[in-house]
Amino acid sequence: MRGECKSVYIGIDDTDSRNGMCTTYLVKVLVEKLKDSGMDLIGPPRLVRLNPNIPWKTRGNGAVCIRVGKGYGEKKVVGEIEGEKIYAFKYGKDGELDLNDIIPLLKDYFVLEEPTTNPGIVISKKKLPEWLYWNAVRNVLNIEFVERVLKENNAKFFKFKNGRGIIGASASIAWRARKFTYELLTYLPEDKWKEQRYIDENSVIEMDKKTRYTFDNYDYENNYVAISPHSKTPVLFGIRGLEPEELIKAKDMIKSTPYNAWFLFLTNQGTDEHLVKRRIKKVKEYQNVILRGKVVKEARKIEGGHAIFQIEDSTGKIDCAAYEPTKNFRNTINKLKVGDEVEVYGSVRDEPRTINIEKIRILRLAEIRVKVANPRCPKCGRRMESLGRGKGYRCRKCRIKLPEDAAEFKILDREIKERWYEVPVIARRHLSMPLKIKEMKSFKIF
Ligand code: ATP
Repeated sequence: MRGECKSVYIGIDDTDSRNGMCTTYLVKVLVEKLKDSGMDLIGPPRLVRLNPNIPWKTRGNGAVCIRVGKGYGEKKVVGEIEGEKIYAFKYGKDGELDLNDIIPLLKDYFVLEEPTTNPGIVISKKKLPEWLYWNAVRNVLNIEFVERVLKENNAKFFKFKNGRGIIGASASIAWRARKFTYELLTYLPEDKWKEQRYIDENSVIEMDKKTRYTFDNYDYENNYVAISPHSKTPVLFGIRGLEPEELIKAKDMIKSTPYNAWFLFLTNQGTDEHLVKRRIKKVKEYQNVILRGKVVKEARKIEGGHAIFQIEDSTGKIDCAAYEPTKNFRNTINKLKVGDEVEVYGSVRDEPRTINIEKIRILRLAEIRVKVANPRCPKCGRRMESLGRGKGYRCRKCRIKLPEDAAEFKILDREIKERWYEVPVIARRHLSMPLKIKEMKSFKIF
């Protein structure tokens, strides 16, 4: 019965730096310690990505949330620590937890010397209002506002330094997982974090080919392994996918440095939940938008190798960019022509106001006519001569005149099609739904 399912939610964010740690590792730390005090995970741990356009994010703007209590009912394996399986239960009870009990466990892992690390921990007996999640994934929130919401909902929170992490921590407790995917993360033993690690590229390719529901493992255009982080963090690799069982098998296909723990996270990655449909005039800084419009200026290359074109709707015009890191995607953008109708998905860059494209849907290709020859004279059949640009044609012999559009044209063969195009895996954002997933749409809940 619902009323009896007592458990607590713990949300954590902003604990790491660019060079080390990873907030998701704290799930392992907490689960290990709580297990000793007889507490279980209720449902899988959650990795919730928030507005990717927030300038003060460290990397992927991710927060984590776990629900704990004394577990009962159906249970599933969601991880392993030193060979011991970690289960998540369907139901929980007696989920009492004091913030003071968990702060000492986590504190040692916070990278507090990093100026931009401002950890926040939130504990709540109930899920927080869903709109908090939607605001955090799509807009910008301030700490004072979030604190008020937490107080109204009787949630407890703890802030380190400016405590900005409570924003993400709260949003992770507010997420309802209406759309979701999974990520299985493997963790190195603590004494190996700073050491060189190894992942066999061929094993990643093989895993990618043998699994059906995983995504963004390998970039075949750029020969790039996308499952390992760029910096030396506790994470060795992370595999994203739709099927938990398949992910558990997939991790065993990777040949790598040994790891001693893994966790399966429920996540909003690959859901496109950061995007909102907008008219061009309504586009605001920090947003992630879907815009429909017609191409009014074809792509030009700017310094750094970026390709910029312009679209227009009935409310205004805006520049759209395929930046250099999007590699071959720029070739598609360079083939757009004035008059093409497109739907652009991307984040708003404020200065200069530009859309940083994640994917594009070409709705209608404009018919481009190119002149192949001057018209023939309707009387004598000879090719007519041009009277100058835009002035039409005249037959020298018969003196007959014809307008400009009497010339012979052919329809230009377009090298792009009316379909979706996306940036390559190497440039993919965590929240962006890959086309592979868009076509499957088989989201199932744990
Ligand atoms: P990592 O991916 O390595 O965990 P990160 O990219 O998640 O790091 P954080 O260090 O968590 O970056 O920093 C993001 C900060 O932005 C956090 O303090 C978080 O609370 C805050 N934040 C997240 N979403 C919003 C939002 N919509 N409005 C305001 N602040 C936000």
